[in-house]
Amino acid sequence: MKNDLLTLKNEALKELETLAESADIEQLQQEYLGRKGRFTLLLKRIPELPKEERPAIGKLANQAKEELRKAFRAATDALTAKAEAEISVFDVTLPGRRPPLGHVHPITQTTEEICRIFVTLGFRVVQGPEVELDYYNFEALNMPKDHPARDMQDTFYVSDNVVLRTHTSPMQIRIMENQPPPVSIIAPGKAYRPDSDISHTPMFHQVEGLLVDQGVSFGDLKGTLTTFVHQMFGAYTDLRFRPSFFPFTEPSAEVDIRCVVCRGKGCRVCSHTGWLEILGSGMVDPELYRVVGYDPESISGFAFGMGVERIAMLKSGLDDIRLFFENDIRFLKQF
Ligand SMILES: [Zn+2]
Repeated sequence: MKNDLLTLKNEALKELETLAESADIEQLQQEYLGRKGRFTLLLKRIPELPKEERPAIGKLANQAKEELRKAFRAATDALTAKAEAEISVFDVTLPGRRPPLGHVHPITQTTEEICRIFVTLGFRVVQGPEVELDYYNFEALNMPKDHPARDMQDTFYVSDNVVLRTHTSPMQIRIMENQPPPVSIIAPGKAYRPDSDISHTPMFHQVEGLLVDQGVSFGDLKGTLTTFVHQMFGAYTDLRFRPSFFPFTEPSAEVDIRCVVCRGKGCRVCSHTGWLEILGSGMVDPELYRVVGYDPESISGFAFGMGVERIAMLKSGLDDIRLFFENDIRFLKQF
């Protein structure tokens, strides 16, 4: 019996040495020390021994069992430690994985730049609804139902009297209706017209400006817009004011800058004129003051509006407006 115990113990220890997986060690432990394990079965035979032999064998058996238990635990611990050591061996100096970062859209960047310039000149930024009443979009701006100027900006009708605004000019009326002069605001935002080609998209962005106060002259309009052009396109940019027509300003002028591509020599971008149109402007038609309840005899003012896409295209030398809205990451990354 004593020999059987020792042989079995040594057999187990020897076998343990060959194992390298904790699952195998567990299995071996079951095989020897489990409820029906070989060692356990051997211990069950102790009561069959002569009475005087039992204490010594019992003691020996317990020692052997304890020794086996310790050996199994040590082997498992060694494997776990080895696995942990392997996991912690990695290069802490390697750069981490960065999630791709987006940035502000070029149209938003341009809008913000335009606003920043006018804010330093004392204008306040206001925003209004893109779904607008016909009254604010056309009628109050001197474009009654049958006015031919409506054709130029035919739009998306939500119902007979509700449209997607064709410009940001409705904000001029909304602001003047709600506060007495002086007024100095710029209104950036989206506008809609059913055009789509290389230089038009059905949705586009405008920045509109309005200044009304006592004694505002065309000289103030020229000074303000000249300052804007010089800050936006560079201090040496030539510009000119060209007579034009808008239903809500009188007199009206379009502002051209010297072509940024050919410097005035004439090229495809400027249709060989040497000039590029960048915005429309004019002195506010007195009729608008009557509509909002201002006294046209005591105040005067000017208004202007520009397309943000056009400004962005001229600044970056693009010739197709649709690039801005195709959401091609390769294009957008360049801004
Ligand atoms: Zn040119």
